[in-house]
Amino acid sequence: MSSRRRRNVIAGNWKMNMTPSAAKELITDIYAKVKGKKGCDVVVCVPYVDIPTVAQAVKGTIIKVGAQNVHFAPKGAYTGEISAEMLKECGVQYVIVGHSERRQYFGETDETVNLRAKAALEAGLTVIVCVGELLSERESGITSEVVSRQTKLALQGVSEEQLKNVIIAYEPVWAIGTGKTATNEEADEVCGIIRSVVAAKYGKQAGKQMIIQYGGSMNAKNAAGLLSMDNIDGGLIGGASLKAEDFAVIVEAAQ
Ligand code: PEP
Repeated sequence: MSSRRRRNVIAGNWKMNMTPSAAKELITDIYAKVKGKKGCDVVVCVPYVDIPTVAQAVKGTIIKVGAQNVHFAPKGAYTGEISAEMLKECGVQYVIVGHSERRQYFGETDETVNLRAKAALEAGLTVIVCVGELLSERESGITSEVVSRQTKLALQGVSEEQLKNVIIAYEPVWAIGTGKTATNEEADEVCGIIRSVVAAKYGKQAGKQMIIQYGGSMNAKNAAGLLSMDNIDGGLIGGASLKAEDFAVIVEAAQ
């Protein structure tokens, strides 16, 4: 199936950028540039403290709000963490789990990624699960093994019904925030591998329907090429999502 039969999802990951007042300016600017572009889903994954401001600003528009992480417990003694219900009540519909920066700097493992994904899905959130190999893993020729393992473990215990609310973002770690992008073919090949992992577990149809994004220095210049590939259904975008103009060009490329 060509990616044209699946809907592109363009998600910005603002990371630890934008105070609430700066977030209000950015989202206002983004909205002015993407309004009316209904050919893809548009999501902004913002810092927790920006969620109320951004949720209010995008109410009734095509833009949806996402968070950048979620805890697996519904509540309790987990200082510094945020639950799925808390996010939902603030207007969040999407959440990223397993971003490589969480895996690299905050001890996130395949097991905790799975727990977070399941908690978010149980609460009715759509989960963007990030997978991707390190440069050393690519150079050792084990990319396929790494992303297959990460995908399988992230989806452990996720039902077929819940899978409809899962998006997988293939993010080669060496391409994140580095300005180095995977070539269209490299990105498409790994997204295809992820699709076959999903198909092996949930069936051919589920594999075909799975939304798989590419992330890693996607920008206004390279987005159209990446998004034209059969296995790529959108992008998870860091740096370029902080510039309304560039983000809007990527949204336009996904129409
Ligand atoms: C990301 O944060 O998921 C990302 C892909 O960042 P960047 O676009 O800046 O590489």
